[in-house]
Amino acid sequence: MRIMILTGAGISAESGLGTFRNSGGMWSSYDLAEVATPQGFATDPDKVHDFYNARRKSVLSAEPNAAHIALARLERMLSGNVTIVTQNIDNLHERAGSRNIIHMHGEIVRALCNICRNRWDAPKTMRPDDACPKCGEAAIRPDVVWFGEIPYHLDHLDELLGTVELFVAIGTSGQVHPAAGFVQMAAASGARTLEINLEPTEITPYFDEVKFGTATSTVPAWVADLVSRL
Ligand code: NAD
Repeated sequence: MRIMILTGAGISAESGLGTFRNSGGMWSSYDLAEVATPQGFATDPDKVHDFYNARRKSVLSAEPNAAHIALARLERMLSGNVTIVTQNIDNLHERAGSRNIIHMHGEIVRALCNICRNRWDAPKTMRPDDACPKCGEAAIRPDVVWFGEIPYHLDHLDELLGTVELFVAIGTSGQVHPAAGFVQMAAASGARTLEINLEPTEITPYFDEVKFGTATSTVPAWVADLVSRL
């Protein structure tokens, strides 16, 4: 069975990484237009680097939780048939042991040169005058997809959504496109669809089945049930 698992900020919430819209989180103290858009970066690159340097630090000190670990187990059991598509820029799926991961919004632990598009492992702290190791230009940025930019790997995702048999969305609010539309694309290809979230979302009506609860309780239970029926 080919399974696509779309994850969002909710799967990393219990690892201590704030979701996009939770109150009191790091995101809520910043204006998104200032720190997560190409225009914001052009206006004040120091501020944007400060924001992502702080987020990188949080990610590196966070640990994968039981939900990340359960998904890695599922991938090992169904070798070659599980793809994790994450909107998260953290690296908790990798650190839990998942291997087949598509980072559609990029990765906070990678750097990108805005001039030559070179990518490399990000230093812990970036500054606007850091030079690209390939072209030497001071055009370093985090390798993350900002609002107004096109998510990565969309052609590949389109292909996968055409052949998937089970589509599962975990901890995503369904407010950020194009990921919010994946459930309908998967359903149109004949896939069964399952949503796992703390609460109903805008896209809940499009799923065949919904499980409400925290990711760390609901995801391991779902994986255990699926594995027991293999
Ligand atoms: P979102 O913040 O819009 O929604 C989070 C969802 O997770 C909500 O629906 C919420 O009900 C659910 N949730 C919260 N805690 C949960 C828990 N313990 N168990 C299960 N569900 C829980 O996040 P999103 O849909 O991923 O969308 C937004 C954007 O935010 C993405 O583009 C992503 O790049 C960015 N983001 C990433 C991170 C990260 O990398 N960890 C963190 C914050 C935001």
